[in-house]
Amino acid sequence: MGENAYRSAMELLARRRSKAEREAALRREELYQNLPQLREFDGRAAELCRALTAAVRNGEPTEPCKLALEQLQRDRLHLLAAGGIDEALLRPQYTCPLCRDTGYAEGRRCRCLDALLRQQAVAALPAGVLSACHGFEGFDLTYYSDTAEPGGRSPRETMKNILNRCRRYAADFGPESGNLLFLGRTGLGKTYLSACIALEVAAKGYEVRYYPAQALIDRFERVRFSREAGAEDLSAMREILSCDLLILDDLGAEFATAYSQSVLYQVINDRMTESRPTIISTNLDLPALSKTYHERILSRLIGSYTMYGFVGRDIRQQKLARHREETKV
Ligand SMILES: [Zn+2]
Repeated sequence: MGENAYRSAMELLARRRSKAEREAALRREELYQNLPQLREFDGRAAELCRALTAAVRNGEPTEPCKLALEQLQRDRLHLLAAGGIDEALLRPQYTCPLCRDTGYAEGRRCRCLDALLRQQAVAALPAGVLSACHGFEGFDLTYYSDTAEPGGRSPRETMKNILNRCRRYAADFGPESGNLLFLGRTGLGKTYLSACIALEVAAKGYEVRYYPAQALIDRFERVRFSREAGAEDLSAMREILSCDLLILDDLGAEFATAYSQSVLYQVINDRMTESRPTIISTNLDLPALSKTYHERILSRLIGSYTMYGFVGRDIRQQKLARHREETKV
């Protein structure tokens, strides 16, 4: 779970809590104006509570205090009822009554904190990823031919298999899930499926970061070489290295330099050593990857990534053609 996400969720809970308590204090103060007797009762109740605590500490009998307190509570309720006032109004109205907006109930993390962490994890993904992704259900296999390739399966069968494996990966995600490498030409659904995984894993509250290769390298470059690099760049760089799941999109489209190679190696290698899963997609095939990248990057990819070869014909092109057919009529 991301540290930042946790901290900001706890801050939000603290704001909710203090707002509820402030408002309750205001309501009480307002009531005191109309019912001065209530202020007296509350003052006496506070005194009795202090006396009770002292009695417990000194080992003295607590019964008289308890009885007086109970009587006082009864009188107080009576007074409120006579004034037609709901006693609950005087108590803080917490957003989550279970944990009173503290995030923890009965020593365990409350489900309101879990929900906040999930919301924040999803919100941290780029808007483009969120809006273009309609989940695994939206992955349309009819774009892939069901005619078997010579001596093998049909593209549809291959893609169905990849779809199912991606689904399982997202459903069972954890630090031991391992790394994936999506290979294949443009327009075959690599970005779509990695976005589906990103969304589903983030919805469980894991910290997921999504970067096109070039954008990732730019972040590192700014931190190392630019005086304008701010705290935001630095924390982005930290997140890239330490998030629960990193999606590195479009590897091979970046401007390849000695520096970009060293950044990629650092990211891939550091995450691997720390058992933090990464999903990389690339339009390059293995021979092209081996021409573009250092031996040490390639050996990491081959040695510790499960490879999925995406097949078929460019879906964007097919969609355009379908659209043209439809509008021709
Ligand atoms: Zn709660």
